[in-house]
Amino acid sequence: MGYDSHRFAAGRALILGGCRIGHTEGLAGHSDADAVLHAVTDAILGAIGADDIGQLFPDTEPAFAGADSAVFVRHALKLAEEKGYRVGNCDVTVIMEAPKLGPHKRTIRANLAELLRVGEDAVGVKATTNEGMGAVGRGEGVVALAVVLMVEC
Ligand code: MG
Repeated sequence: MGYDSHRFAAGRALILGGCRIGHTEGLAGHSDADAVLHAVTDAILGAIGADDIGQLFPDTEPAFAGADSAVFVRHALKLAEEKGYRVGNCDVTVIMEAPKLGPHKRTIRANLAELLRVGEDAVGVKATTNEGMGAVGRGEGVVALAVVLMVEC
C-alpha cells in the first residue's frame, strides 16, 4: 500500500496519474508532485521490501526537480522485476474537494495500465471528497492511496 499527499500551490500544474488536469492551482512538490504516481510507487516498493520513494528519490536531489513521476514508478517496477515480481492489479483512491476527478478517471486508468503493464480491467481509480473535514476538506491539498497486488513474473 502507498499513501501520499501534496498541498495545492499557485503557479503549478495539477498532474494526477500522469494526467494534466485543468485547475486554478496545482500541487507543490519537488517533482511534478503527482500524488497518485507517488502512492503507486510506494505501494510497489513496500511490497518488495525496498526503501520508500523519499529515500530513493530525495527532494534534495536536483536531478528530480520537476521530474515526471512515471520515472519513479518505472524504477520501482524494475526493482520488483529484479526480485521476480510484477504488478497483478492496482487500486487507487484520490481524496480531494476540487476539481472533480470524474472526467479524468478514464485517462488516469489508461495511463496506469500502460505504466504498470496490466490491462485496464486490472486498474481501479476512485475519487471521493473528505466531506469538508480537515485540511483536505478545506481544499488545502490532495491525498492519494494506492494498493497493488504483486505476482510472480
Ligand atoms: Mg509525493
